[in-house]
Amino acid sequence: MDNCLFCKIVEGSIPSNKVYEDDRVLVFHDIQPAAPVHVLVIPKKHIASMNDVASEDFGLIGEMHRVAQEVAKKLGVAESGYRLINNCGPDSGQAVAHLHYHLIGGAKLGALVQ
Ligand code: AMP
Ligand code: ZN
Repeated sequence: MDNCLFCKIVEGSIPSNKVYEDDRVLVFHDIQPAAPVHVLVIPKKHIASMNDVASEDFGLIGEMHRVAQEVAKKLGVAESGYRLINNCGPDSGQAVAHLHYHLIGGAKLGALVQ
């Protein structure tokens, strides 16, 4: 998609600090980490948000979860614990309209909603 930040990261026209890559999924460090471990798990395919996931994408979503599990181990938070968060739509604060999971950990995390 033209003008999509994360599509540009997939293409390589915007740099990223990659943690994992295969033909369908990319994981890179968040530019403004909210915790010691904060990476973004994205599909290479442009999907605007969770609302736009079609049944044909369900396998891809499963693959993103498999990759998140692998990356959590690689980054040393599988046992200590982590969150896998998707923001969808205005109330969530979704800023980038390309589906992504935040994988956050490496510290005791506070309550999600106060
Ligand atoms: P969200 O609010 O769920 O849409 O999250 C978007 C995330 O993308 C934020 O945590 C940003 O810090 C992160 N972000 C924005 N630009 C970049 C970038 N160029 N490289 C890595 N992460 C980014
Ligand atoms: Zn995109």
